[in-house]
Parts: sequence; structure tokens; C-alpha cells
Amino acid sequence: MKNKIKVAIFDLTDCEGCELQFLAFREKLLDLAKSIEITNWRLAKAKNDNGPFDVAFIEGSPLTQDDIEMIKEIRQSSGAVVALGDCASLAGIPGIVSSGEREALARKIYGKNYELAVKKVYPLSHYINIDYHIRGCPVTQKELEYVVSGLIWGKVLSPKAYPVCLECKAKENHCLLLEDKPCLGPITKGGCDALCPSVSHRCYGCFGPAKGANIESFKKHLVEVVGRDEANRQMHFFITNPSMEEENKDPSP
Ligand code: SF4
Ligand code: SF4
Ligand code: SF4
Repeated sequence: MKNKIKVAIFDLTDCEGCELQFLAFREKLLDLAKSIEITNWRLAKAKNDNGPFDVAFIEGSPLTQDDIEMIKEIRQSSGAVVALGDCASLAGIPGIVSSGEREALARKIYGKNYELAVKKVYPLSHYINIDYHIRGCPVTQKELEYVVSGLIWGKVLSPKAYPVCLECKAKENHCLLLEDKPCLGPITKGGCDALCPSVSHRCYGCFGPAKGANIESFKKHLVEVVGRDEANRQMHFFITNPSMEEENKDPSP
């Protein structure tokens, strides 16, 4: 490969857990370094280029006007933009709190006259076009490797169009729902190799809603298993959080 692919990794409001998955590549990162050059990464580099980039990964949710301007500039200077993790792809953790609650909490902390710059938290796709979404809280190494190697070799990246249950069944796990235990696998997008149910933990939906999932019908079942309050709580994080009420119910891909 003559020219290395120029990659940038940006972060907005988040816990930085997804970009740490790049560091967890360890020796694979050295292999990748033969094909890619990370030219902008605040977390790991002292000097950073301003672009252009072949691929920009953006982690986190935009919460200020500066964030919004920044992601628009990144979009303009990047060949492909990847939403890295749920905070970027679904508004994830920052989106859990409704706009009214955010405002009340901000005024409690910063004073009664405090005005939030951005009232409602939206995912990146509300502001810019996104070429690929890597879901998860945090993203998995496998999915990240799939995307990075796909971008290096110019492969078409196919989003997983099936729920976690399909991967869970392929691993021949015993189904938690059959034991009347909660599990969001049927309505959650696949791609994690059924990480949680494979160790007998319920899927809590961190890959976001599966395309075409019948969320209302599943919720009725979940209410029967755990009661209404607990069902609401379990689905609130990544399936029905307030930022997903409008355009983001079935975000692509
Ligand atoms: S998706 Fe989860 S792990 Fe990734 S940055 Fe957001 S809160 Fe952290
Ligand atoms: S345990 Fe969960 S993910 Fe696995 S098959 Fe049952 S519902 Fe689906
Ligand atoms: S099983 Fe569910 S909660 Fe666990 S990693 Fe996969 S999508 Fe996320």
C-alpha cells in the first residue's frame, strides 16, 4: 500500500470508553500502523493535523454550538465519517435525560439563570451525514476491527440487519426469556456475538434497536415479566431514550 489512510479520532461529550477500544488493539495497532496513519487524536497525540482525513471517527454527543460547528467541519474535510459508539450514533448516555430534566439539572448546578446551549441532545446524524455507525456502549473490538480493516481494504461495510437473538441461537445459549427472565435480545441490533446472554446476563440493548423490531409488542411481554416501571427503566437507555423519540427511532443503518 503506497499511501497510508489518514485517520482522525475525535471525541465530544462521552466517557471515552469507545476510543479506548483503539488502544486495546495493542499489537494489532502496530499492524494497522502499516496501513493507516492517525493524524489527529487528542487522547493519544500531542500534535494534531486539521485534515483532510480519509476517515474520521467521532465519539460522543454534540452538546454545544462549538461541537456542532466542529462536526460540520470534520464532515467537510473527511472522505468517510464513522459514528463511534452509542453516544455518537444514538445520543446514548447524554440522551437518556429529557430536555426538561437537563435544563432543570443544569440550573440546579450552575444557577437559575443558566441557559443550555443545546436544549435537546441529538445523535451526530441529526447534523451531518454518517457513513457508518458502530454501535455499542462501548463498541466491541470485533466490530471496530471489521470497520477499520474494511476501510483499509475498500470493502463495502454491511451493517448487521438481524437481532442479538440470532447470534445467541447460533451459540446455542439457553434462552433467558424461556426462564421468564428479561432480555432485550429480540429487539436489539446484532453484532456483539451475544456477549451478555452468553454469560447468562440479559441483553440491555446497547447496540440500539434492531431494524424493524416490534418494540411495542416486545414491551408488552417485558411488562409481564418484570412489571411496567422496570420494563420502562430497562428500555430507557438505548431503545426508547428521549433522543430517539423523533427521527432516531430506527436510525440507519
Ligand atoms: S457509547 Fe458508552 S462507552 Fe462509548 S463513549 Fe458513550 S458512554 Fe462511553
Ligand atoms: S437469551 Fe436473549 S438474546 Fe438469547 S435468544 Fe433469548 S432473548 Fe434472544
Ligand atoms: S448482548 Fe446486548 S447489551 Fe450485551 S453487548 Fe450485546 S447488544 Fe450490548
